[in-house]
Formats: sequence, structure tokens, C-alpha cells
Amino acid sequence: MPGEQYAGRRVLVRVDFNVPTDDEGHITDDTRIQSALPTIDALIQADCAVTLCSHKGRPKGKVDPDESLAPIAEKLKEFIGDRVRFAPDCIGDDVAGMRAGLAGGQVLLLENTRFHPGEEDNDPEFARALAGDAQLYVDDAFGSVHRAHASTVGVTDHIDVCVAGKLVRTEIDRLTPCREASGDGFIVILGGAKVEDKINAIKLLLPRVERLLVGGAMGWAFFKAKGMEIGASLCKPESLEAAREIIAEMADWLDRMVLPRDVHMVQVEPDTGQVTFAPADGIQPGWNALDIGPETCEEFGRIIREEAEVVFWNGPMGLFEEPPFDEGTLAVGRALADTEAYTAVGGGDSVAAITHLELDDDMSHISTGGGASLEFVQGDDLPGIEALDDA
Ligand code: ADP
Ligand code: MG
Repeated sequence: MPGEQYAGRRVLVRVDFNVPTDDEGHITDDTRIQSALPTIDALIQADCAVTLCSHKGRPKGKVDPDESLAPIAEKLKEFIGDRVRFAPDCIGDDVAGMRAGLAGGQVLLLENTRFHPGEEDNDPEFARALAGDAQLYVDDAFGSVHRAHASTVGVTDHIDVCVAGKLVRTEIDRLTPCREASGDGFIVILGGAKVEDKINAIKLLLPRVERLLVGGAMGWAFFKAKGMEIGASLCKPESLEAAREIIAEMADWLDRMVLPRDVHMVQVEPDTGQVTFAPADGIQPGWNALDIGPETCEEFGRIIREEAEVVFWNGPMGLFEEPPFDEGTLAVGRALADTEAYTAVGGGDSVAAITHLELDDDMSHISTGGGASLEFVQGDDLPGIEALDDA
């Protein structure tokens, strides 16, 4: 990646500046901006004229001031100084003019690519305009490489040289042990709320793992699919459908899936607020299971400590944002911190949980990609990586 051989070129860099912001538009976590700095710095050092593009949020092809990248340009100045300029759109004559006027070592951040429908539609005309006068394309947005959008795939048809940035390379290197793992010692932990988003991962990973530990509301979907009572616990119809499909199609492998033995729940109907533990088959109507219980923490912890050689974790074990329902996620995080195994964690909420619990330094790798890291580990070819010359 970027360095001397690209000295002085006009470069388009796809970064992931999809940072979380609060109601007043302040950036609440700038990790993603900092993660892109090594690539941006290398291009500045090589005297390149650097244009940066990114999406933010889900504005669905229309201008949404709440999702503007303008505050990010200000933030970027704190790191790399006054060389940063901001373009109020990502395509158009004015933007082309700003790009043409960019000198070596200067940086232009374009407005949110998703303000145009052509981004998610991967429209060729939009992609051509976004590519603009770039002679080199650098993809450093690992969190978006699983999407075939104009800024990740379409632009590569219109730019001569297309390569991976430093962040994308690091992610690939550090997630490859999980992508290549199979058999004894390969443990995958899945949680969070949406089985339907992770259905392909479960189908592809079950035949490869020693064990698949399932926690969070994902677990309740499997309970319900088996005809168990889950009371008022979270389980969307799509999640139930996905769990049923896995039970039907993956029958030969289901003994590798470890579901929670017990739950930590609160009474919501009547709304007494009473909190207690129950075995998995003891959830009563009116109770909302918000975390795995202590026996499950113990079992998951034992499997991780005794059997794991390579672990991949995506999705919290419960409603970790609201203590005491962070205990399951904490127990799994601690077991991962203790083991000698190779441990990688991906997923926006999972990484937030690990960081909040101050266990991030104890993991082998924390991925900046949620869906992208899961799809990479499950073995898929990712369109944003396939489109690069150095794929
Ligand atoms: P990730 O972003 O790591 O991929 P998801 O987005 O799939 O994870 O799910 C994370 C969300 O699921 C978190 O906000 C968490 O609080 C919620 N969650 C997990 N288990 C439960 C539960 N039992 N009840 C309610 N919410 C849950
Ligand atoms: Mg999430």
C-alpha cells in the first residue's frame, strides 16, 4: 500500500467515517477517524493530492443534514491540521473544481456518499463522477468491504490502480486465523438481537467449528423455535423464522450449537421490576429475559478456557447497556481475556461492550467491521476486496 511508488498522484481514498454522533451532532467516538490516519499520513508524506469519501448513517439517497460529514472535517483538522478542506457534495462541477485545485499534501473530505441513491445502487454514472480525476484508489474502509456500492466497487472501474489501505490490510491479516480455522479448538460466539442477519454465518460456520456458543436474544429465538416459552422476551418474527430454518436445515450439526442453560430476566407484566434467574425452560409469561444466566456464564467460560485455540466473537450476550444485564457479556469477555487462544471480536455493539468493560487490550484483535468481519470469517469473498488489484 500507499507509499513512495505513488508519489504525487491524485488519490481517492474510501474511508469509514461512519462515526457515532449525539443529538447535537457531536462525535461521541472518533476511533474510526483515528484508524484511517496511518493511510492518510502515508499519502500526505508521498505528496499525494488526497480526496476522502465515506458514507455516514442511512440517509437513503437523500440529503440529511444530521448525517453531514462537515463535523468530521473539523475533527480531522485536529489530527492533520489546516490542510483539510470540506466539499459540500461528493460529485458535481464545483466538487470537480475543488478536486482539480488540490495540491500535493492537501486533503479534501467529500460530503456523505449516501446523499445520492447512486451510491447504494452502485450506479455507473455516479461511480464515474465519484472517481473523478483520481489516478489511484485506496480502500481503507474495512467496515464497508462487504457492500458492493459505488464508493467500494463501482469506482474501481474508472481508476487505473486500486489497492487496499493499511487498515484493510491489517484487518485481513488479523482475521485470517479465524477465516482459516476449522475443527478442534475453533470456537465461535454469536449474540445480539438479529438471527436473520447472521443466518448465513451460522450455516457456514456450524460445520467448521468445535462449538458455536449462542447468547443474547438470538438464543431466545432458538428457544421459541423449539416450542419453549420465552414470555415477553425479545424475538422478532424474522428471527424466529431464521432460527426455524437453521434447525430444519442444519440438523446434522446442531449438537455443536450450545444454547443458554439459564437466563437473567425481569418481570414486565405486571411491571414489578423484579429481577431473577431461571433455567432456560423456566421462563414464565410476563418475564423478559435480558441476559444469559450464571450457569451459562460458567459453561461458556469453561469451554473458552479449556477448549479454545481460535475464537471469533460477534454480538453481546444480553442487554449489556443496562447493568446488571452486562454480566453475561462481561463473563464471556473475561474468559476471552484469560485464554491463551487467538481472540478476535467484531461487531459495533460487541466492540462497544468490550471497550466499555476495558477488556479491549486483552483481545488479539478488535475489528472495525461488524458485518464485514463476520462475512470474512465465514469465508465469503468480499466485493470491496475482490475489486482491488491486490486482492
Ligand atoms: P453487533 O452490533 O455486535 O453485531 P447486534 O447489533 O446484533 O450486535 O445486537 C446488539 C444489541 O442487541 C445490543 O444493543 C444489545 O443490547 C441487544 N440485545 C442482546 N440481547 C438482548 C436481549 N436479550 N434483550 C434485548 N436486547 C438484547
Ligand atoms: Mg449492532
